Amino acid sequence: MAEETIFAKIIRKEIPADIVYEDDRALAFRDISPQAPVHVLVIPKEPIVSVGEATEDQVGVLGHLMLVAQKVARAEGVGDAFRVVANSGAGAGQSVFHLHLHVLGGRPLDWPPG
Ligand code: 5GP
Repeated sequence: MAEETIFAKIIRKEIPADIVYEDDRALAFRDISPQAPVHVLVIPKEPIVSVGEATEDQVGVLGHLMLVAQKVARAEGVGDAFRVVANSGAGAGQSVFHLHLHVLGGRPLDWPPG
């Protein structure tokens, strides 16, 4: 079970966020510290900790998040070139332990990432 995070408060609208998409299973909002002209976080409303801790019964919502990322990228005008990143675990740079997809676009995206 996930610990309560800042994202849980954003889902409950207890703290403000620049929300760009919402449905019954997912929420997408602009990252507070954008790393690209388009930097949106796509999160499940249910508290999944990370990709690394996701379980088989969550396959539906995990797939849904990918399609929300696609919708967001298209709506933001970067549907032809964007990156979806999910940091899993502190060692990989995860700082909020509620699973989130970073949707990044609007500038050249180097590979490999740091
Ligand atoms: P992580 O480092 O876990 O992969 O990504 C967490 C992301 O959440 C970071 O890019 C960080 O800027 C963003 N973030 C952290 N707190 C908040 C917040 O309160 N509001 C918004 N919109 N983004 C946040």
